[in-house]
Amino acid sequence: VREDEGDDESPTKKQVSDHGVKVASHYNKLQEVGLAARSRSRIFFMRNFNNWLKSVLIGEILEKVRKAGNSRVCVLDLGCGKGGDLLKWRRGGIDHLVCADIAAVSVEQCQSRYDEMKRKSYSNEKIFSAQFITADCSKESLPEKLDDAELMFDICSCQFVYHYSFESEQKADMMLRNACERLKPGGFFIGTTPDAYELVKRLEASDSLSFGNEVFKVSFQSKGSYPLFGCQYHFSLEEVVDVPEFLVYFPLLEHMAKRYNMRLVMKQRFSEFFKEKVRNEQHRSLMMKMMALEPYPCEDGGQQATDGKDEYATAQEHCKKAGVRPPLGTLSQSEWEATSIYLVYVFQKMS
Ligand code: SAM
Repeated sequence: VREDEGDDESPTKKQVSDHGVKVASHYNKLQEVGLAARSRSRIFFMRNFNNWLKSVLIGEILEKVRKAGNSRVCVLDLGCGKGGDLLKWRRGGIDHLVCADIAAVSVEQCQSRYDEMKRKSYSNEKIFSAQFITADCSKESLPEKLDDAELMFDICSCQFVYHYSFESEQKADMMLRNACERLKPGGFFIGTTPDAYELVKRLEASDSLSFGNEVFKVSFQSKGSYPLFGCQYHFSLEEVVDVPEFLVYFPLLEHMAKRYNMRLVMKQRFSEFFKEKVRNEQHRSLMMKMMALEPYPCEDGGQQATDGKDEYATAQEHCKKAGVRPPLGTLSQSEWEATSIYLVYVFQKMS
């Protein structure tokens, strides 16, 4: 990714507005499937792994927020989707959650999940209050849509979302503004997004314009030159053609975040994060629970040898290296190749 290239290759206004529509209609169309169907998926362990990673990240950040002495914890879930993280917020005992997403159907499902969670909760359990907002957060200003105009957040969580906004500088900045503007001093902006370096490295190593395996495929339109904004690629997972995504050149994001008084405190590839966290007894035991739900129905048994490179090693191998017992099921080599594209980041608002 070249730093010296500007915004001049970013799409026209027409394409910019079309992209939001594409993203919304793609996610609106995705069906909510039950656990049984999910467990037959070839990316079952990858989904569980990603959920484990988000649980660990969210748990650790909540601990920091509590240590700082904040009594009422408010969270913004930016690009909440169908509410896959609602349980994590419930476990974390937060007080208020604002869920925002561009896809109206997903926001409705998220709200129904929340209502159901509240209905089924124990009588002595206090479930957080919540607001649900349908908005293109890379175009519209969120604070204006808040029920409580004065609301400030302890955390903004943006999981697997930020890369959609890197279509143009304006969009990336609006998304960042929505994420950071209403954070309390000391508050956190956390998230997960593909690592542009990793994507470009794999593309450059490929003899075509795409790379991947039987579970995922990444396709670019050209290679050799990578504009800072609007550098589009397609990511398809499990043969579902996905909406276009954009490379997030991380040093640029870090630079842009300074406008909102945000300092990068952590950035790790998924593989590094996993290696570090799996050593912790509590995180490991959560991983065991999350990976042991169903037997893995994949024909290759889900555990292949690696090509010797650390970042391609399976979760099982990392556990072996760390000298800990691996989870009962584990990611297949193909799933690991897909998930090891991502990175996790934490920004903190300076006081
Ligand atoms: N955060 C959820 C999770 O971790 O399960 C959902 C992740 S899903 C891969 C990406 C989500 O980002 C989708 O729900 C999509 O609608 C949302 N999204 C993409 N662009 C957006 C935008 N401009 N504004 C708000 N949400 C957006």
